[in-house]
Amino acid sequence: MSLLRADDGPLTRELVRRPGRFGLGQVPARLAPDRTTRSVCGFCSTGCSLDVHLRNGEAVNVTPTVEYPVNLGMACPKGWEALTPMQAPDRLTAPLVRDQRGGPLRPVSWEVALQRFVTGMRRVQAAHGPAATAFLSTGQITTEEMGLLGALAKFGMGMLHGDGNTRQCMATAVVAYKQAFGFDAPPYTYADFEASDVIVLVGSNLAVAHPIMWERVTRNPHDPEIVVLDPRHTETAAAATQHYALAPKSDLTLLYGLARELIARGHVDERFVRDHTTGFDEFARFVRAFPIERVCAETGLGEDEVRRLAVTIGAGERVSFWWTMGVNQSHQGVRTAQAIIDLALMTGNIGRPGTGANSITGQCNAMGSRLFANTTSLLGGHEFGDPEHRAKVAAALGIDPGVIPTEPSLAYDQILEGIAAGTIRGLWIIATNTAHSWINQTDARELLDRLDFLVVQDLYPDTETGAHADLLLPAAGWGEKEGTFINSERRVGLVKQVKRPPGQALADFWIFKLIAEAWGCGEMFARWESPEAAFAVLRDLTAGRPCDITGIDGYGHLDRAGGIQWPYPRGGAGAGAAANGAGAAGASAGAGEPGGAGKPPAPDAAERRLFADGRFPTSDGRARFLFEDPRPVPEPTDAGYPLALLTGRGSTSQWHTETRTRRSPVLAALAPRRLHVEISPADAAAAGVATGDEVVVESRRGSIRAVAQVTSTVQPGHLFAPMHDPATNVLTFPRVDPYSRQPAYKHAAVRVRPLHPWERANG
Ligand code: SF4
Repeated sequence: MSLLRADDGPLTRELVRRPGRFGLGQVPARLAPDRTTRSVCGFCSTGCSLDVHLRNGEAVNVTPTVEYPVNLGMACPKGWEALTPMQAPDRLTAPLVRDQRGGPLRPVSWEVALQRFVTGMRRVQAAHGPAATAFLSTGQITTEEMGLLGALAKFGMGMLHGDGNTRQCMATAVVAYKQAFGFDAPPYTYADFEASDVIVLVGSNLAVAHPIMWERVTRNPHDPEIVVLDPRHTETAAAATQHYALAPKSDLTLLYGLARELIARGHVDERFVRDHTTGFDEFARFVRAFPIERVCAETGLGEDEVRRLAVTIGAGERVSFWWTMGVNQSHQGVRTAQAIIDLALMTGNIGRPGTGANSITGQCNAMGSRLFANTTSLLGGHEFGDPEHRAKVAAALGIDPGVIPTEPSLAYDQILEGIAAGTIRGLWIIATNTAHSWINQTDARELLDRLDFLVVQDLYPDTETGAHADLLLPAAGWGEKEGTFINSERRVGLVKQVKRPPGQALADFWIFKLIAEAWGCGEMFARWESPEAAFAVLRDLTAGRPCDITGIDGYGHLDRAGGIQWPYPRGGAGAGAAANGAGAAGASAGAGEPGGAGKPPAPDAAERRLFADGRFPTSDGRARFLFEDPRPVPEPTDAGYPLALLTGRGSTSQWHTETRTRRSPVLAALAPRRLHVEISPADAAAAGVATGDEVVVESRRGSIRAVAQVTSTVQPGHLFAPMHDPATNVLTFPRVDPYSRQPAYKHAAVRVRPLHPWERANG
């Protein structure tokens, strides 16, 4: 069947007939037919490597790579099924336009689609100014694509505002690290999971959310204490040696109380605190207000529990603290993350094997987004507000410094508020599903319909967000394009093209290039002529920054090395401190120092952590103790809504809004078929429901139907719902952390009741 239609113009014909020009070759030039190549997985931030087995140059299967320093021959179900969602028969294979709101979509050529894009966005800009157009992006596309999108939108098209769905998962960790360490710098390497004698997991169901990281924990030969702080008795809690089932959002109080206990018991590393930190005395005075009685009253834990936890941490020689969404998605997430950092600093648990205050990232390229999306931070780990940074970036890109905004973008929630206020009227959404995943989803959907012009760029035509679009652009997915991802431990890994995208779908990179041409600013991106050329542009921008990767030669170097952790300045990792100057994120080599450019390190030498020298990239080289009084939850439970709704990952086989994973029969079979909510036996009895009953869960924002699962994994007064179902965010409460503007998905007031027979009868 021909991929061309009669009305396709010359550009579309060129795309289809000379796909190699757009990176779409049937057989990627660097691959020989019938062999195996390696590529980093495109789901979560673990960054596992997959061996991709090819037949006639096309991927036919994957298996986990054995000799890769991340996954060591393991993969979770999503990794094993990485190819299946790409092969779905309902992929978006041509641009689609909607001529009127609520009307049908119809396919058009790329020429028409690009013209629509430019006309729609320019019309908004002409009527309301450039700031009336914005973009929402993702942690799922490659670093090169993020960089190109951010540069195109802001420097080429004049947009002031763009944000990513990383706001929903990692913004809290970014702000916490920047304020405490001077740079967004997760300090760890995965080898730390295996080197600790105490592993403290805060708000992290690691065994389900990051199963391969959990496998690394289980390889730890030191018989570690595995401590879980979580209101739920999760799969991880069940496997831990200690579980503290604290009240939801009481973690900040507990962490301050632990600091008080540790100080009282003499577990402060006074030399480290004196030489490498600032603000400890004020912190020590502050935590006096958290005696054990207060901690127990607010957390629901017993005094013996709090003391046992303090003793465990104090006795550990190599204590690592790990956190993820239970902390980040909170109304006080930044201060909670910083309380974890405070504990690591005061006990000297940082910069050594098996230690660290370690934020685990969510999406496969959330870390790439943090450094290169050009949203909160200027490209390459720079600051929009710093004139020297703007001048450096402008010079490196050969652009007028005047086109670089002097402030960061509005955050995701502020962009949506802008729609409500009528100041943002044109929106370009790339590889994210706002209408499903945004907090208080009903409002978000209504706002999308208020836009004058909405463009959605995705793999499939049927996402909840695509249903609101005026224009849908067909994007290539994982395995259909090349580029890099940066994983949780700062490892830059290579993603390869091992399949041809279906129909006229294009890699996001090439869509951005075509839009640049159609907008009239293509010349600005002449140097970004391929993903690898774009990588070189972005790499060179990092010179002298804590995330300096100027020592990476190119894609071949990444492939040979098995990924490379930043920093990796020219001359190799050992050149880090010299290259970065005072305040740099120093790197400690593992077994052997990595070689310089063109001399790739052995895989074991690529296991590196930050701050081994006790120097932090702040102005004085010291880490900061940061703290603040805990605040009450924004929507407390009451007599009308007596249950606290907790949300989280449902299973290892589901990924976020399930746009991809539900297209795999294998992954779908591994997950519950219907939305279920976990309810305690006491609350189930009070509500008159049993396991398997259909129930209605109501919040002040709406109601949903689900199936009850009566279980003691949740405490009385709590209800748990997986985040993957389109209905869950009907219930969540719209509040963000004041510093990171990350939504507080983890707490809302709800009630539950049986579904009435008449409701079932009426559908
Ligand atoms: Fe992919 Fe994450 Fe699973 Fe590894 S753990 S295979 S990176 S989804």
